[in-house]
Amino acid sequence: MEMILNSTRNNDNKVSPSLAILQGISQEGGLFVPSYFPKIDLDFLKELSELSYIERAKKVLSLYLTDFSDDQLQKCISKAYSPEKFDNGEITQLSHLFEGRYMLELWHGPTCAFKDMALQLLPHLLKTSAKINGCEDEIIILTATSGDTGKAALDGFSDVEGTKIIVFYPAFGVSDMQKRQMITQEGKNVSVCAIDGNFDDAQSAVKTIFTNEELKAELAKNNMRFSSANSINFGRLVPQVVYYISSYCDLVKNGDINTGDEVNICVPTGNFGNILAAYYAKQMGLPVGKFICASNKNNVLTDFINTGVYNKNRDFYATSSPSMDILISSNLERLLYHLYDGDDKAVSELYKSLNETGVFKVSDTVLAKLQNEFYGEFCDDGKVKDVIGDLFEKYSYLCDTHTAVAVGVCNEYKDKTNDARPVIIASTANPYKFTKNVLSAVTDKELPNDEYDQLDMLNKISGVEIPKSLGELKNKEIRFKKQIDKADITDFVKKSLLG
Ligand SMILES: *Cc1c(COP(=O)(O)O)cnc(C)c1O
Repeated sequence: MEMILNSTRNNDNKVSPSLAILQGISQEGGLFVPSYFPKIDLDFLKELSELSYIERAKKVLSLYLTDFSDDQLQKCISKAYSPEKFDNGEITQLSHLFEGRYMLELWHGPTCAFKDMALQLLPHLLKTSAKINGCEDEIIILTATSGDTGKAALDGFSDVEGTKIIVFYPAFGVSDMQKRQMITQEGKNVSVCAIDGNFDDAQSAVKTIFTNEELKAELAKNNMRFSSANSINFGRLVPQVVYYISSYCDLVKNGDINTGDEVNICVPTGNFGNILAAYYAKQMGLPVGKFICASNKNNVLTDFINTGVYNKNRDFYATSSPSMDILISSNLERLLYHLYDGDDKAVSELYKSLNETGVFKVSDTVLAKLQNEFYGEFCDDGKVKDVIGDLFEKYSYLCDTHTAVAVGVCNEYKDKTNDARPVIIASTANPYKFTKNVLSAVTDKELPNDEYDQLDMLNKISGVEIPKSLGELKNKEIRFKKQIDKADITDFVKKSLLG
């Protein structure tokens, strides 16, 4: 059956899967959602259990990307998940932690964060989408990042023919490791620039460029067009659906569950993209009980799930899990659309209210549906530290600060509910990406100042291998030193693209 997508704010705005990927976001500001969920059954899951990750990805993606040919899809997937990009042949890794808790490690890709799972594939999906739609323009990716997305997008798009990528990061607001990952990025088509200011400044500057009609026209004359690598792009969502289905199949294959048994899924959440992909898997037929939505001290989603009121008017905290420091969870809009049974008017009203007042409230019916599926809780930095220390001491398992938020919330859920179903916990970053905080959770000793000495110290204490891509950063040439005022960002883009 041919897949059609439509905007969350206008059901009449219909696009093909490839066009949804190419456009990124709809004209009226809504997000593209599938008009139906393709169904999978227990036989499908049994069949998948015997296959490799790449084969599983192809089966699942083909249900959504119906205007891609088999051959096109195969090529995209094998380029994305090649053995030289991922440090283990399995692509993801599922390991039993304790008492029915399973860690789904999603950070074995080149930049050590789960964003690689989608961003290694997105450039190829985008290029193919352009081809399907007869678009010969060069695709220009503009990204503002607080750290992980920027690097993952740079690595994914590096030297992909027919694309260019420009990443802006706040000069003060990314970790040393994240900064170094970006400014040493290789590739002929990449560019990285620091902005005076914080992440919001970088983000709003980029948004201004996306809506600069004059600049867009000038680009069009030169056969170029902007596109987005943000998690609002449907092309980032579908690759994430794959690993939830795949991890379920791993549990079946390992004999931990029988096909058809229910599992719960716990996700450390920021922009709601990762946990939404799990929800999509359930809508397709994956046997999932509860979704456990774990937030850090920026707990806007916890409050929303518990009260039905979304209120972004609150203090913003810089936490030890920076990739979840977010007050507007973009992908929540997609969940609301589905919970409102595709009522585009209702969703438009909610987001109008959010725009005007910073607050919206869902109906009682929708709140009941939400709470039936989702459990929301948060974990502050003190508890994150305890969780990391505890897991390491008791189970010799080292996890990063974001994953620790999920484990902390999962433990609390288990204690409160006695829900005995196994839990798949999304592990979203390699612990070495946040070495300083992880290190201070596993030792009382004084930490060295130098980031690389910290890597070595964590390695000595834990015995866990330092990922090659982080260890070798020290000796890499710094390519991008430029720092500009946020007012000059449009000029920077013009010069980079048009000379
Ligand atoms: C982006 C990110 C998250 C949050 O994922 P969302 O899809 O935005 O909810 C969690 N952990 C890490 C390490 C990340 O980079």
